[in-house]
Amino acid sequence: MLPAVVFSAGVLAAGVGSMLPRLVYRCAVPAGCPPRAACQHCRIRFRPALWGWVVLGNGCGNCERNLGPAWPLLSGLLTATSGVMAWRIAPLTVDEFVLLVAWLLLACAGLLLACVDVTVRRLPTPFVLATAAILAGLVGVAASTARQPWMLVNSLAASSALAGVYLLLALVGGGMGMGDVRLAAVLGLVLGTAGWTAVLLGATLPYLLAMPSAVMRLRRDPKQRHLPFGPYLVAGAILAVCLTGA
Ligand SMILES: [Zn+2]
Repeated sequence: MLPAVVFSAGVLAAGVGSMLPRLVYRCAVPAGCPPRAACQHCRIRFRPALWGWVVLGNGCGNCERNLGPAWPLLSGLLTATSGVMAWRIAPLTVDEFVLLVAWLLLACAGLLLACVDVTVRRLPTPFVLATAAILAGLVGVAASTARQPWMLVNSLAASSALAGVYLLLALVGGGMGMGDVRLAAVLGLVLGTAGWTAVLLGATLPYLLAMPSAVMRLRRDPKQRHLPFGPYLVAGAILAVCLTGA
């Protein structure tokens, strides 16, 4: 059963990962700007509705130039991450499958947000809030299927705790932005279902992962305090569940 779950998660992630470049390309815009509506090279507008967003690979449909990050990189990263998460979570019951779906969704949304953060140093609020709403719904379904209301309580408590810690860090000038605080709250929602060890790891691992890069940046430019922290937050949460299982 488990090999089939790992294989399915990997195949699904490979497909989704190869569609991420267009989403990253369109969402990576400065604050206050609408999502990109056209190719920057040939200026031809993307197809309307979903067809302009859900596109395999990197190529512009018109001039065929590359748009967004390389799709094999995103697809490979998401496939490996999803496979390991499925293996570590090893779902057997319905609620565990629902939680695996939540983690897989978090990995997809997290990778998209990480790419946008690296490109334009921001985490688009509507996307973060939409992810939070879907994940909270999935945790609610898992809690009610398992008949364990504590799961939802833990999830909300972990979300508040992580948001509180990161808000404090943002206020004391730890190089965080409010986007990081909101993302930490979203990650807390799912980390809370994996237990408090996972929450603790999810709170501390981003710092450990970001430290080498932060030190190098400060050496290059001591005034450079803001680091795109989204990728480290997402990587920390995923690493936490891979280390602890769910
Ligand atoms: Zn083009």
